[in-house]
Amino acid sequence: MATERTFSILKPDATRRNLTGAVNAVIEEAGLRIVGQRRIRMSQAQAETFYEVHKERPFFGELTSFMTSGPVVVQVLEGENAVAKYREVMGATNPAQAADGTIRKKFAESVGENTVHGSDSAENAKLEIAQFFQDSDIVG
Ligand code: ADP
Ligand code: MG
Repeated sequence: MATERTFSILKPDATRRNLTGAVNAVIEEAGLRIVGQRRIRMSQAQAETFYEVHKERPFFGELTSFMTSGPVVVQVLEGENAVAKYREVMGATNPAQAADGTIRKKFAESVGENTVHGSDSAENAKLEIAQFFQDSDIVG
């Protein structure tokens, strides 16, 4: 498996609780390299575009208002099999079902406020990275 990149977000519940370093430590301990990182305030339009696939879901309004409720840290992670690896490191969407040692098990507060986002495919990773990063801001 070649080196690949995935897109990550440390969500507002992580920044609010001052957990960005603690989450990054788990990411780095798992062997993923943070090759791009920026702290931003996501606009409503950015959140709606980013989560467009969920726009018919009942939690869409709650999700976009949560994602714009405070700063987030957008990241590009690089490593062997990075997309699947990061999904594993994040743990299940619902922290109650997340495996021990995963980010969501350690830190997440609820299924909505679940600390991190990670791309679910290499194709989506490329699209998501392009939504938030210019190539020159990723230094591998
Ligand atoms: P994942 O982030 O694990 O890929 P999904 O793509 O299914 O999960 O959902 C996107 C995000 O929407 C979740 O990370 C979570 O913040 C939110 N979400 C998912 N399911 C629910 C739910 N039942 N209630 C509230 N928010 C939810
Ligand atoms: Mg998803």
